[in-house]
Amino acid sequence: MSALLSNAITEAFVEDTTQGDERIRLEAELNLLRETIGGFKFATTKPYWNQKEKKEKGAGGLFSITINPYTCKGCAICVDVCDDNALTMVTQTKESIETLREDWNFWLDLPTTPPQYSRIDDLDEKVGALETLLLDKHNYQSMASGDGACLGCGEKSTIHLFTSTVTALLQPRVKKFIGKLNVLIENLENHIRLKLSNTVDLTDTQALMQAIQTFSGRDLTLANLSESLLAKHPGEPIDPQWLKRVTQMLEKLKDLRWRYMEGPSKNGRAEMGVVNSTGCTSVWASTFPFNPYPFPWTSHLFQDSPSVAMGVFEGHMAKMVEGFKTVRQVEMELAGGYDPEESGNFFATLTGSNSAKKSGICAHCGCDGR
Ligand code: SF4
Repeated sequence: MSALLSNAITEAFVEDTTQGDERIRLEAELNLLRETIGGFKFATTKPYWNQKEKKEKGAGGLFSITINPYTCKGCAICVDVCDDNALTMVTQTKESIETLREDWNFWLDLPTTPPQYSRIDDLDEKVGALETLLLDKHNYQSMASGDGACLGCGEKSTIHLFTSTVTALLQPRVKKFIGKLNVLIENLENHIRLKLSNTVDLTDTQALMQAIQTFSGRDLTLANLSESLLAKHPGEPIDPQWLKRVTQMLEKLKDLRWRYMEGPSKNGRAEMGVVNSTGCTSVWASTFPFNPYPFPWTSHLFQDSPSVAMGVFEGHMAKMVEGFKTVRQVEMELAGGYDPEESGNFFATLTGSNSAKKSGICAHCGCDGR
């Protein structure tokens, strides 16, 4: 593939009729591309090239398998699962390590694979080529390093597949939930504004004109306009309980969004958390500075870890369910009015374990409870 690419660049030079500076710039850029690609291996494959090109000219993608030399343990799982002898084991030499490092650095600079090359039809239902979730760099990089792991052991590869799958499954739901929070915040703000403006009678155009004239030459603000109108038409009194309630809801929604997007760490909500049950995983995963998890991780002895995990999970659920109560209350308010008297019992008995069933929102990830 590299030879084909190099030939294509040479042919492009021959066919190109550009002259002068433009030609010099083009040659410099294409030569730079040829140099940067170097010996990096691409392949044209049936699913990513042939089939895509057949459907739409120019839609084919090049395929490459790159090994991370900094984390590979030589377990050979990838060699076993890749068909057609795509990978073979070779003896480690200084040169082979150097090539792997160069290839890996090149891979790091590449953008992630666009979603149209994922061959997953439905991840929830496990339909399609599920392994292609690893083509998404964010999923792949759900875990890194872990270099205290033993040579030849596939444990790290297995855990990597687990963290990547959880990331691929949950992160789109989290993104969707943040989108929902944005819409609710906007709608609630508009709802409050609208209700407050309803307390002022804006139908009396005479009174409106008079107020505008009164403030002629001075700044006309909503406050002094309302004051002037209310002097003529006392208007509807605002229910202070309602105003307090909806303002608190708005605050809580904004706080929930902040926790997802920024939070005390400024990095947003962690994508997962792990309670590890001792063993090898506790050794290679806790060897500073090679901790492989970019999320909270804790390790306990065999007999302790299940109870620690249950405690962490229950605590997390209890915390999250408070946010989801607010979401549900806001939805009720926007749908016609939330009445705390009427719905008090519903919310008093809403917990982390029944939130998906009762409110349609899972307290773990914000999904609709599937
Ligand atoms: S750790 Fe195992 S599965 Fe991963 S690249 Fe190395 S040999 Fe392949």
